[in-house]
Amino acid sequence: MPEMLRRNIVMMGAPGSGKGTQSAILSEKLGINAFSMGDILRGVAKGDSEEAKLVKSLIEKGNMVPDQLAIRLMENELFKPENEKGYILDGFPRELSQAEALDTALNSEKYAQYHMNIDLVLLLQVPDDYVIDRIIGRYQCAHCKTLYHEKFKQPHVYGVCDVCGGKEFTRRADDTYETVVSRLRTFRRVTAPVIPYYEMKGLLVCVDGTGPIDVVSEKIRKIVGY
Ligand code: ADP
Repeated sequence: MPEMLRRNIVMMGAPGSGKGTQSAILSEKLGINAFSMGDILRGVAKGDSEEAKLVKSLIEKGNMVPDQLAIRLMENELFKPENEKGYILDGFPRELSQAEALDTALNSEKYAQYHMNIDLVLLLQVPDDYVIDRIIGRYQCAHCKTLYHEKFKQPHVYGVCDVCGGKEFTRRADDTYETVVSRLRTFRRVTAPVIPYYEMKGLLVCVDGTGPIDVVSEKIRKIVGY
C-alpha cells in the first residue's frame, strides 16, 4: 500500500452535499466498505428482535436513535477484520458526543487488535441553495439503492437503473423543502461542532462540493491519493 494512501475516511457535509454519492464512488474505487447510520438502522429494523422493533418505531416517528445505541450498532458493523483495509463513514459521526465515543472505541483495549484510526475527514462544502436543489431532485433505485437525480444524474436509459437494471425507484419521505430546511438547521447546530474537533486533530480537509459529480470525485481522488 503506498504510504500516502489514506483509507480510513470520515465523510462530512450538510445533507445533500454529496456524501452518499462520493462515498459510493470511493468505496468502489478503493474496494472498501462505506457505512451510513441510516442504512445500518434500516438493516436492523428488518429483524424481529426487541432492538429491531425499537429502531423501527424510532425511524417511523422520525426520531433520532439514542447515541449509545447508534454507537453500538456502528461498532458492530465497523470492527470486523474485512474493514482493516479501510472504511468510509458516510455522515457519521453526526454530533460531537458520537465523534468522541468513536475515538474511545477506536482506541479501546477491546478493539486493540484492529488498527483502524481515522486517517482523513473530508468536509464537502456546498451552499444551502445547491443542497436544497439536490435533495428535492434525489431518488434511488429501489433494489440496489444507487442514487440518481432528476436534473444532475439520470440513468443512461430513462427509467432503468444503470447498475442493476431495476425499474422501480424510491424517494425518501423526508426529502421535501420543509424538512431540508430543518435538517440544514440541525446540521449547523448539532453536526457543525464536529468540524473543529477533527480540525484540531489535523485530520480535516475541505473539498469544494459545488461542481459536477466527477469533478468533485477527482478532487477527492487527489486528496486520498489513489
Ligand atoms: P448526502 O449523502 O450528503 O445527503 P447525496 O450524495 O445523497 O448527498 O446527494 C444528494 C443528491 O444530489 C443526489 O440525488 C445526488 O445524485 C445529487 N448529487 C450529488 N453530488 C452532486 C454533484 N456534485 N452535482 C450535482 N448533483 C449531485
